[in-house]
Amino acid sequence: MKKRLVLKLPFRILFSVIAIIVIVTAYFPIRSVFKLVNHDYNFFSSVEIYRRDLYEEVIDKEYSEIVDKYIKDDNFKKENLDMYMDIDYYDRKNFLTNINKLIDLKYTIDDINLINSKVSDEFYSKLFDEYVYDISKYLNVDYFKEKNFDRYKAYFNGNYEKTVLYVNIGLDKDYYTDTNMTSEFSNTILVNKYNGITEDFVVPDLVQIASDCSVDDEEYMTKEAATAFEKMCRDAQKEGYDILANSTYRDIEAQQRTWDLYLGLYGQSYNDKYVTKPGYSEHHTGLSVDIKSKNANIFKSSKEYKWMLENGHKYGFIHRYPESKVDITGIASESWHFRYVGKEIATYIYENNLCYEEYYAMFLDK
Ligand SMILES: [Zn+2]
Repeated sequence: MKKRLVLKLPFRILFSVIAIIVIVTAYFPIRSVFKLVNHDYNFFSSVEIYRRDLYEEVIDKEYSEIVDKYIKDDNFKKENLDMYMDIDYYDRKNFLTNINKLIDLKYTIDDINLINSKVSDEFYSKLFDEYVYDISKYLNVDYFKEKNFDRYKAYFNGNYEKTVLYVNIGLDKDYYTDTNMTSEFSNTILVNKYNGITEDFVVPDLVQIASDCSVDDEEYMTKEAATAFEKMCRDAQKEGYDILANSTYRDIEAQQRTWDLYLGLYGQSYNDKYVTKPGYSEHHTGLSVDIKSKNANIFKSSKEYKWMLENGHKYGFIHRYPESKVDITGIASESWHFRYVGKEIATYIYENNLCYEEYYAMFLDK
């Protein structure tokens, strides 16, 4: 007779318990992995998240592209998981290594997101030397320029926006040093003690200002500026104002003669203060006009001056060297000097109480 294999009761219980343990231990990883997959994680990343015992920390939070992409990377640091979960992923070179460095230096999540979204790879490494606690304040200024960063820090005046703006203008440098020179004319050209013109600079379309709007027959501006000026002069005449071009286009030689004349008469310190070096005068552009009124010897006390302040922008002219902006323009207040920039820019400058250096640094200096 064949002997039936019958398990005794204690063995049956033991096998059942083992079977339950096997099923349960297999069930929970599978369930967890599929929950992670449902949470948008890649299958293999999900297995790894579970394997590294990070399931609980990951599952309750929003999907993290960093965790998904780098969980199997040697540089993935478990202790940085919370930070990884909140940092935005950017497709950048050495991304994980770099954010690890930033985390070690105690940069915040907001700092790191801003840095990743804004700075170049070259600039990135600058942030590894030491913790720059106010990096976000600089990066949040629209016209922040990486190449000027060290100058911002050296110049810092208590206001981030103004620091960035003023250094971009060049105010941290001495006049006439390390200047930008251009040979190209444009209606928006900036000429000042930091920005000059080269010898071969040519103003296109110089035309003579009509005699009813000029003190003599030797005043020239670009065709566009002259047309705008004459329209302004004649509209003003109709209202009883007398606005005449007194000094307009001047070439480098003419400015040199002016420079030499005053140097001989009053010396260097006078020139430094009141005369612009040849190559750096806005009169070289054919867009500037010194205005005279027959009604008053001192333009500032004339009714024409007031009229110009209120109406110049409607014709495209700005008051170029206001008293309140002397520290920025580097030119002593000149009530008579106006500059053609076109109506749109002139109106913006008028409405926002800017000087041209500020406008230029904010919108034109790329
Ligand atoms: Zn002038």
